[in-house]
Amino acid sequence: MNKAPFKDSTLPVEKRIDNLLELMTIEDKLGQLNQLFTDRVIPLKEELTEQVRKGKISSFIWPKADPAERNRIQRIAVEETRLGIPVLFGMDVIHGNRTCFPIAPGMACSFEPELFEKAQAVAAKETRAEGVEWTFTPMCDLARDARWGRVAETCGEDPYLSALCNVAQVKGLQGDDISAKDKVAACLKHYVGYSCPRGGRDYSDTEITEWTLRNSHLPPFKACVDNGAATIMSSFNAIGGIPAVANHHTLTEILRDEWRFDGFVVSDWMAVKEQISWGFARDNAEAAKLAISAGNDMDMLSKCYLETLEQQIESGEISAEVIDTAVRRVLKVKFELGLFENPYVEEDAYENTVLKPEAVALAREAVAKSTVLLKNENVLPLTDKVKSIALIGPFGDDQVEMLGCWSERSNPEDVVTLKAALMERYGSDTEIKVVKGCDVSSEQRMICLQDGSTVVDRDADPNEGCLDIGGAIAAAQSADIVIMAIGENRTLTGEGGSRATLSLSGKQQELFDAVAASIETPIISVVFSGRSLAIPEVFEKSSAVLFAWQPGIQAGPGIIDLLSGDVAPTARLSMSVPHHVGQMPLYYNHFVTGRASGGVYRDNVPTSARFWFGHGLTYTSFEYSDIRIEPGKANAPAKAVARITNTGDREGVETVQLYVRQLACSKGARPMQELRGFKKVSLLPGKSAEVVFQITDEVLSYTNRNGNECVDHGEFQIWIAPHARCGEPISYKY
Ligand code: BGC
Repeated sequence: MNKAPFKDSTLPVEKRIDNLLELMTIEDKLGQLNQLFTDRVIPLKEELTEQVRKGKISSFIWPKADPAERNRIQRIAVEETRLGIPVLFGMDVIHGNRTCFPIAPGMACSFEPELFEKAQAVAAKETRAEGVEWTFTPMCDLARDARWGRVAETCGEDPYLSALCNVAQVKGLQGDDISAKDKVAACLKHYVGYSCPRGGRDYSDTEITEWTLRNSHLPPFKACVDNGAATIMSSFNAIGGIPAVANHHTLTEILRDEWRFDGFVVSDWMAVKEQISWGFARDNAEAAKLAISAGNDMDMLSKCYLETLEQQIESGEISAEVIDTAVRRVLKVKFELGLFENPYVEEDAYENTVLKPEAVALAREAVAKSTVLLKNENVLPLTDKVKSIALIGPFGDDQVEMLGCWSERSNPEDVVTLKAALMERYGSDTEIKVVKGCDVSSEQRMICLQDGSTVVDRDADPNEGCLDIGGAIAAAQSADIVIMAIGENRTLTGEGGSRATLSLSGKQQELFDAVAASIETPIISVVFSGRSLAIPEVFEKSSAVLFAWQPGIQAGPGIIDLLSGDVAPTARLSMSVPHHVGQMPLYYNHFVTGRASGGVYRDNVPTSARFWFGHGLTYTSFEYSDIRIEPGKANAPAKAVARITNTGDREGVETVQLYVRQLACSKGARPMQELRGFKKVSLLPGKSAEVVFQITDEVLSYTNRNGNECVDHGEFQIWIAPHARCGEPISYKY
């Protein structure tokens, strides 16, 4: 018997889908739009297994990392259902699978998108090996309010840098062919505007104008769509009262009609149904109708599609074409993933794929490239004169904390802490005293179980949260140098992790103040955090500050590489660091107003950042000179040029940044500065080089309210600088 055309891999995907759609009943089709949760139970509950058998489940989210169980479920879909359409397994693998990398805002500080690409290629390989072919990353949202815990998943506050970093992630995850055994489908999230919740409170509502949407929030998504991202997740928020899952303007007019996105859109967790809570939809049926009609193809968990759409099609409330369009998009990704040809995974591949030495080495490199040297009063790198070191603070030897906010597949035991790496590097000829000083937080201590869930550690010493100031001071007083490993605990970040303060968690500020007050010895603070923190005393009283984010399994070695000077710091802030939480939201690329830009505080809080976007020190110094514009020629754009000189006594890499401002734009004001390019230049001491940026139309452009890229003739200011708000601009007339 001839096999059905949809099974013929030599036919074009669209033809295969045409055939499959003809064979599918309406129930089959609605099944393909339905994603459910595995409940992380093995074996899968009978009730869910039965639904797979009936073809009612297109995709599972959060399967346990168990290839055999995954294959068992897949076998039911492929061999026991009428059409044998495979299940798509999706998982939040955000900053690494078993090989846990630094979180995204840290990785973005590398200003090296290729690093992201490499890291996500590792994540893709490990993820596909466990039988998951779809990850809910990268996050294209912006980090504009540090109170919002999910800044820990963003690539920082700048749309340009975010676009580059997110595109690199898509490339790393998907490669050229998502059917490859080491690639997965990416999912851009959260579309769109999720990162502007009121007061930084996760899940709250947002108000974003079309102008800001077009010029700040959409560009990273658009760049990834242009680079072939397979799927997109619609977000939880509503803009102007329209929940994202039902926003026809963003999901269809922009995404499909303007950008020609041809993958599928999945809702966020239960977001279809949540339209009822918003007071937008009357009931499940209306929620389903609004979402699918707006262009949201797959329903994550709410079952509103599965349970209500058939009736609505029969009654003519919804056209069959709307359903077919959504199903077509889902099937396309399944075909492209090669699931019809290769539905199963090798059951023993995972253990041999994870934590490869080259992956671990990359994780170490990533830590060193993500950790920003914010301040250095000649104490770093450490010298041979240091004969005794005190490592103080709760982050010095905490494996769980290093893993950060999304580490479902990571294992704390794989983490090399700062203490372990310090011992390894200096232990033989330096006296090292380690004092925890206090717990990471005053909450009950949580521990992460093998299955990824988190529970309260009942064996924890209830006094652990107490301060050990005496021990900390004694250690500090007997050392040549004090390293304070401090920050905020990871449960304060990520989803639902909003904060009203941006301080150190628990009693760490007391610990820091007590140590700082008792010694003249220089303090090197290493800050672990999922967001930028307002910790002025730490910045003031430390002789050096390294901002290490949530660095992942190679936390210790990567940081020691920097402390020792084996590797020189190169990272630049992807997110401005405030003086005070009251400054939120704070980002460098805000508008200039008619009055004091950014407003004025009457209570002595500065309006500027403590450290602006782009800031980061190296172990040498650079001078910028001869900054100029070289006019364009017939077929060549003008150039912005600067001479960069290494004025220090060490070789170093400078990240030279190009910022632009259009002075008069009658379509809408343009921000005070916008990053539009950066280049790294490596220079030996005393050497200099010219760095050249082409002033192309793209560099000067903006997007109008209709989605068109525009560039106006007129006056511009251009900076070539080591960070935002540095140096004088030069004028340029286009
Ligand atoms: C989050 C998403 C995540 C999804 C699936 C949601 O609550 O907002 O970022 O991908 O859950 O776990």
